[in-house]
Amino acid sequence: DNSSTGISPAKVRALLARERERYALARPLSRAGASRASEHMMFGVPLHWMSDWSTPFALQVARARGAELLDVDGHTLVDFCLGDTGAMFGHSPTAVAQALQAQAVNGLTTMLAGEDAAEVARMLAERFGLPQWQFAMTATDANRFVLRWLRAITDRRVLLVFNGCYHGTVDDVFVDLVDGRPVQRPSLLGQVHDLTTTTRVIEFNDLAALEAALSPGDVACVLAEPVMTNTGMVLPDPGFWEKATALIRHHGSWLVMDETHTLSSGPGGYAQAHGIAADAVVVGKALGGGMPCAAYGFSADLAARAEAAKRAAAPGHSGIGTTLTANLLAMAAMRATLSTYLRPEVFAPMHARAERLARDLRALIQRHRLPWCVTQVGARTEFQFCAQPPRNGTEAVSAMNAELEHALHLYLLNEGVLITPFHNMMLICPDTTDAHVECLLSAMDRALLELVSD
Ligand code: PMP
Repeated sequence: DNSSTGISPAKVRALLARERERYALARPLSRAGASRASEHMMFGVPLHWMSDWSTPFALQVARARGAELLDVDGHTLVDFCLGDTGAMFGHSPTAVAQALQAQAVNGLTTMLAGEDAAEVARMLAERFGLPQWQFAMTATDANRFVLRWLRAITDRRVLLVFNGCYHGTVDDVFVDLVDGRPVQRPSLLGQVHDLTTTTRVIEFNDLAALEAALSPGDVACVLAEPVMTNTGMVLPDPGFWEKATALIRHHGSWLVMDETHTLSSGPGGYAQAHGIAADAVVVGKALGGGMPCAAYGFSADLAARAEAAKRAAAPGHSGIGTTLTANLLAMAAMRATLSTYLRPEVFAPMHARAERLARDLRALIQRHRLPWCVTQVGARTEFQFCAQPPRNGTEAVSAMNAELEHALHLYLLNEGVLITPFHNMMLICPDTTDAHVECLLSAMDRALLELVSD
């Protein structure tokens, strides 16, 4: 009665039930904290989806440093979630913490530029190979702003995205392909506009669909991650981006690379590391070492058109920017992150450790004879419940199994290891050691031993 995951659903259910109990027993203070929190917080958490983790009640964090978290009950967790990439350079990276301390007594926000801004933009241009930059507070906002610029510049309405993508809470991207037809995601709350009229969606790695979607000549831009990372990982086929960029250019459209997660591939992101020529790049999350910061870069051509579009527009609100964006604290954080951590010598050991994790995890899965695969991109490693790495969003989504995921994640957490919720990503930071990786592998081994045994 094994499901396609190779593990019997009954076993998964039993493990999940036992681990929920184990979690609760070991965490009286987290339970009390979560209960106190629900008095004045809807869902008992600051953001409703924080209650979607596998835990029976929300884990309450006491502090985080480097690659480890401490919960209020005194358990240390090796953190492979790292705030889903926000803490990719470790929790409270020293250079960022020092820069924040120094800036904290010299102004936090002024709505004016300071000395750091020009230097941050210079370093971004150097790392990402695009000459002109603007800022946002979150990757969500950066994507929203870029989309506005591109629609204004091209005077085209349509956004083209890949099925299963995630680019933050940018409404426009929540259109799925269901049986080949575009459908507004039913889970989206309070969206009263029909997004399918201005968003087109195709499968990743499908060049024929890309050509067909571009051919009406109304696509302002293609917004994409170079590797899909948000429904499990989906790698581009060899040569996909080279052909895709040529098609996008041929049809008068522009390519926006969202490198928010794929920054794990190196100091200039995946596109730089793999020679993909994007017209615009979005970076967020880890860019401020954990401080909310994001930025977007344009090619010289695109930047000139953006400036022209603004000059030609009526004076007044552009719909781009927020008051606290590019504040002094954020700029100090980005300057410290760029100069200290966005360097090849910082990434090299992270990549080596992620490679080792991927290799050993693959061997472990093979030893347990499970039809699962492991994918690694830079410092990110992901396991998926399918034998072959998925080639598009539909394949990736169909390999997911919420109950198995919850059982595994909760088992790992109870064994002192935290991995990213909502799929199976494990991120390496500069502070992650071989012992940390060993800890993850051995906990995973014990979990699988329980799940596959008769
Ligand atoms: N782009 C990508 C590729 C992401 O994965 C995310 C968040 N997971 C975002 C943008 C949005 O980032 P934020 O939630 O920090 O705005």
